[in-house]
Amino acid sequence: MAKEDLECSFCGRKKPETNLLIAGLDAHICDRCIVQANGIVVEEAKDEETGELSSELMLRKPMAIKKFLDEYVIGQEFTKKVMSVAVYNHYKRLLQPKTDDDIEIQKSNIIMVGQTGTGKTLMAKTIAKMLNVPLAIVDATVLTEAGYVGEDVESILTRLLQAADYNLEKAQRGIVFIDEIDKIARKSDNPSITRDVSGEGVQQALLKLLEGTVVNVPPKGGRKHPDQKFIEVNTENILFIAGGAFDGIEKSIQKRLNMQAVGYSASKSEDTIEKDNLLQYIIPKDLKDFGLIPEIIGRLPVLSYMDPLDEETLRSILTDPKNAIIKQYKKLFEMDDINFSITDEALDYIVKKAMEYKLGARGLRSLCEAILTDAMFEMPESEETELTVDKDYTEKKLNKSTIKKLKAVS
Ligand code: ADP
Repeated sequence: MAKEDLECSFCGRKKPETNLLIAGLDAHICDRCIVQANGIVVEEAKDEETGELSSELMLRKPMAIKKFLDEYVIGQEFTKKVMSVAVYNHYKRLLQPKTDDDIEIQKSNIIMVGQTGTGKTLMAKTIAKMLNVPLAIVDATVLTEAGYVGEDVESILTRLLQAADYNLEKAQRGIVFIDEIDKIARKSDNPSITRDVSGEGVQQALLKLLEGTVVNVPPKGGRKHPDQKFIEVNTENILFIAGGAFDGIEKSIQKRLNMQAVGYSASKSEDTIEKDNLLQYIIPKDLKDFGLIPEIIGRLPVLSYMDPLDEETLRSILTDPKNAIIKQYKKLFEMDDINFSITDEALDYIVKKAMEYKLGARGLRSLCEAILTDAMFEMPESEETELTVDKDYTEKKLNKSTIKKLKAVS
């Protein structure tokens, strides 16, 4: 090719139209495109440093947020919708210009109620991934009041700082997922009896964080120590998402609904109540009856529930999400040049077993692992390049004792 025919692979200008055309392996770039690209690199780095919200974040509307969630989380339509709006409002609140109209948008912290393994953590993780903000996942059961054995609530913020690589700005607009919030419910119904360490005290300590305050956080975790330097973390713009199974809460929902039905003109008569999914009727009062203090409930104003996973949902979880379990195995086998496929009958069988043994979504992975371990062990060194898993194969690998073992560990 003649020199003057060479062109910039980015903007298409011919060599004579440029001041400089640099050659790469299979491409060329001109001086103008270099300057432009450099500008982009500098801007991106600046965003990283200041931890400023990217313009992309500002533009994501609730429907777009939900669409993103749809790619990773199956079903749970109600929570996805509620969550999309809450997250959108939360970040709108962060971006609101200071005005003097006295209208202060309150935080939209979220509480999700639903059985374990229905996707609560996954939901929080997906939101954090989408927003590209740090996420700390903490278990409420390890938290105790200051002065007792266990972790102070400040440790939550230590985790968040670590997740943000100690970038304070980033941490201060991150997300905290507090799992098993139901485990710190007040044990007794009478609030005036002696304070109970594991429950109410921790709820009180959490209150401060949820409402927004400046907390002295030991950056390396552990107990507060006079010699340790603290980092001041402002929790005002941190989004808190709490989750819990609230075992047995259905009973109080049922009781309330029955009472309504007996009372005046009931809005939900007995026959319109879906008895196998009572969580959908949950209201804040049910959380209070379960043992959360009213102040905590007030600071978690967005209440949502998770649907139990039915057969259809489990089946879809196996193959449909962006990083579905079956897609992951396919990729693993591909790395050894093995073409892996699994028949619909085999997938249905796995789902049937997961339902039968009440293994839930977490069980799907263990079941697949049990089915495929032999193949993953033997095939990389064999000549075989094809693995088709059908129902027969699945049945052979999943005998009763294997499943029982899975049940014991799950
Ligand atoms: P929870 O926090 O409610 O106990 P998780 O979010 O930890 O449940 O879910 C456990 C695993 O099950 C997840 O890693 C995910 O692979 C799968 N899972 C559960 N629910 C869903 C769902 N609705 N959509 C897709 N995957 C799910």
